[in-house]
Amino acid sequence: MQNHINTYWDVLVIGAGNAGLCAAITAAEAGCSVLVIEAANRDMRGGNTRHTRNLRAMHEEPTDILSDAYSFEEYFDDLLRVTKGITNKDLASLTLQKSTELTDWLQERGVRFQPALSGTLNLGRTNAFFLGGGRALLNSLCRHAEGLGVSLIYETAVASLLMQDGFCDGVRLETGDQIRAQKIITTAGGFEANLEWLAEGWGAPAKNFLVRGTPYNTGTILRALLDNGAQPVGELDQCHAVAIDARAPKYDGGIASRIDGVPFGVVLNKNAERFYDEGEDFWPKRYAIWGRLVAGQPDQIAYAILDSVGVKRFMPSVFTPIKDDSLAGLAEQLNLPPEAMQNTISAFNAACPEGEIDQSILDAKATKGLFPNKTNWSAPIAEPPFYGFPLRPGITFTYMGVEVNDRAQIIMKDGKPTANLYAAGEIMAGNVLGQGYLAGIGMTIGAVFGRIAGESAARALNKTVLGD
Ligand SMILES: Cc1cc2nc3c(=O)[nH]c(=O)nc-3n(C[C@H](O)[C@H](O)[C@H](O)COP(=O)(O)OP(=O)(O)OC[C@H]3O[C@@H](n4cnc5c(N)ncnc54)[C@H](O)[C@@H]3O)c2cc1C
Repeated sequence: MQNHINTYWDVLVIGAGNAGLCAAITAAEAGCSVLVIEAANRDMRGGNTRHTRNLRAMHEEPTDILSDAYSFEEYFDDLLRVTKGITNKDLASLTLQKSTELTDWLQERGVRFQPALSGTLNLGRTNAFFLGGGRALLNSLCRHAEGLGVSLIYETAVASLLMQDGFCDGVRLETGDQIRAQKIITTAGGFEANLEWLAEGWGAPAKNFLVRGTPYNTGTILRALLDNGAQPVGELDQCHAVAIDARAPKYDGGIASRIDGVPFGVVLNKNAERFYDEGEDFWPKRYAIWGRLVAGQPDQIAYAILDSVGVKRFMPSVFTPIKDDSLAGLAEQLNLPPEAMQNTISAFNAACPEGEIDQSILDAKATKGLFPNKTNWSAPIAEPPFYGFPLRPGITFTYMGVEVNDRAQIIMKDGKPTANLYAAGEIMAGNVLGQGYLAGIGMTIGAVFGRIAGESAARALNKTVLGD
């Protein structure tokens, strides 16, 4: 550690996730001395990136990783639709344009991808899947970075920034030690693991959120930037949140705790009332609204209820569903009011149309006369045994962050870019994602802006960036 403290680094990167490693590699390839500081231990390095599976990339023709084509126009339309236009259009365009380089760039640095996916997820055209998932991607990037001479230190949390008038001289560690550098790249994630901060946007319900990813993304660096005059971007309560099994751990449950059965049953709150159209659209297009929906219910708890037919229609989660031969017995096991649950299910069953549902299309098999109606895949919950999954809001990552420009420089409240501070990944994702989500764009934003931050820092040090 003494060596690291005594060195005056060209570039210091805070956080060894996807964004940080892309930045570190890019700066090191340009000849910078680079130190990456990571709060977690080596096994848990890489924050939320550890949990990922894919990134979303534009491409004009089929590749060995992505089928057909995904044009700039289509990608941009998709982004505008999910964000309802709340995005910095220039930075969004830049992200999409640069996404086209990512699979080659990552492969050249040791990351391996799966062949284009087939099947019902429908993502083979738009999303490139990492072979071995996010952890394998991280291992490859760390190995590559170390091969370039990048120093990575673990179990070392940055507590604050040595910052004055928009200039950052270095960082203070939790130990009190200081490390100095010419350029600082902040890639320390959002504040999704900080329930107190979440409560500033969400109020008391935040205490019942489960954090799907790393406990280390507490927003310490984001807070330090804002306290030192960085311009915030995005709303406090905007985030990606899905419904996950209420039995999942408080942190790091990952994707295995997600419950995908919602479209094939009904979802009840603790009063055994339905509260939203479970069949509004295909699940990949709707799963990301259910965290917010469950967060809006009393005590932030809900229950997906299915019968023995519905339960076979989706990929099982890691948790065994709670099972009973009767609805009354299931209600008792789930602690739901039995009469109210029976009434809700009876009303739902009576409102279902005749005939088989077809889950491969939006089949318009809608209930009639309910509030809310279920608009697709409505089939009676009638074949015992019956199954229940308790659901909680599972927060993935927050969107409120720092404003950046197209060089990944952090913008201060006076509208001017900082002299030597850059941001990439979750900590600035709100520039592109004002609200909503497009599967795979989190990793795309991190890789694109990580590379830009590394390039900008290197150029500002008069280094030649690879490809210049
Ligand atoms: C379960 C799950 C599944 C996901 N799946 C996908 C997917 O398939 N595709 C996709 O695009 N996105 C996905 N995401 C979102 C994706 O993980 C993020 O968008 C992306 O990983 C963010 O990268 P990052 O480098 O900004 O942050 P991270 O990967 O979270 O890295 C931040 C790092 O900073 C470190 N750190 C934090 N504070 C400090 C400090 N004070 N000092 C030192 N180090 C610090 C953390 O330990 C962490 O290693 C998923 C997220 C989760 C939780």
